[in-house]
Amino acid sequence: MTRPNATEIIMTGPLMPYAADQLKARFTVHELWKADDRAALLREVADRVRGIAGGGGHMRTDGALFDALPKLEMIANFGVGYDNVDAAEAGKRGIVVSNTPDVLSDEVADLTIGLLLATIRQLPQVDRYLREGKWLKGAYPLTTSLRKRKVGIVGLGRIGKAVAHRLEAFGVPIAYHGRSRQADVPYRYYPSLVEMAADVDTLVSVAPGGASTHHMINAEVFKALGPNGIVVNVGRGTVIDEQALIEALKSKTILSAGLDVFEDEPRVPAELIALDHVVLLPHVGSASVHTREQMGQLLVDNLFSWFDGKGPLTPVPETPWTKA
Ligand code: NDP
Repeated sequence: MTRPNATEIIMTGPLMPYAADQLKARFTVHELWKADDRAALLREVADRVRGIAGGGGHMRTDGALFDALPKLEMIANFGVGYDNVDAAEAGKRGIVVSNTPDVLSDEVADLTIGLLLATIRQLPQVDRYLREGKWLKGAYPLTTSLRKRKVGIVGLGRIGKAVAHRLEAFGVPIAYHGRSRQADVPYRYYPSLVEMAADVDTLVSVAPGGASTHHMINAEVFKALGPNGIVVNVGRGTVIDEQALIEALKSKTILSAGLDVFEDEPRVPAELIALDHVVLLPHVGSASVHTREQMGQLLVDNLFSWFDGKGPLTPVPETPWTKA
């Protein structure tokens, strides 16, 4: 709906009504994903659009889109991960990018622990066993255990720390890998991911996507992890070399995997789906009503704050906000 004299923004994909209604009450919102001819819509609004609300993998927000929208000032990304936004390019052009950190960390950490336990104790497989009437013929085979495992976290950031905090209660040793050692963290740091993989048997990846993490968990890492190895990924699918993972699972180079994220979502390789010793989730880490509302509100608050002249609330590091 066009609102006279209202600031114009683009929504690149659907947001829950809770957030979308607040945006529509203040801005003229162009719903790009609904347009039959997106290029035509972009041409029509090019000289008026000052903000973008969206993300979540709906479309890539990059130099081509920035070229098409010369008045663009701000991109409010729905999600803490913003590998779908070329933030470095936005920064060069003075466009601010915000994301939704912290408000989802506990939810994603809860899900990560659930996925880890589901993978180790084979909960979806056990559920299927009962439903198929197999319990009547005998007990489900014994599974592996979290007991005696050592967990290595790849990407000990906001979510990684929330996962580590929960794991402390499970009484397992925790290590981590990242680009740098962190102060005030009681866990063992490994500058080398392969060395950490060799010393633990369970890897939990909460690392972001992008070029610097692309395929960092690969055949060499799986070999180091070994035949008792379990890999859980809730960060981004591109962090794992998916083909190498499939090979490692088939050849029993590692034991099992639990995945919430994939390289080419929502397409999941048939070879992975065919394997019974993996647990696969459709990217639901933050997907509760409670947390999606919190994320939506933070997106809205970022846009409102920006267009009130107060700067973004949670800018990403590539576009730091310094008050003029
Ligand atoms: P943070 O930025 O707080 O943490 C990211 C961590 O990754 C940091 O500890 C960083 O450590 C590490 N890291 C970054 N680059 C590299 C690299 N090249 N090599 C090794 N480590 C690296 O982010 P959050 O914890 O808030 O979120 C993490 C990610 O989780 C998001 O980017 C998103 O992709 C994913 N996510 C997934 C969800 C789901 O639904 N499955 C929901 C929400 C988020 P250092 O700087 O020391 O390298």
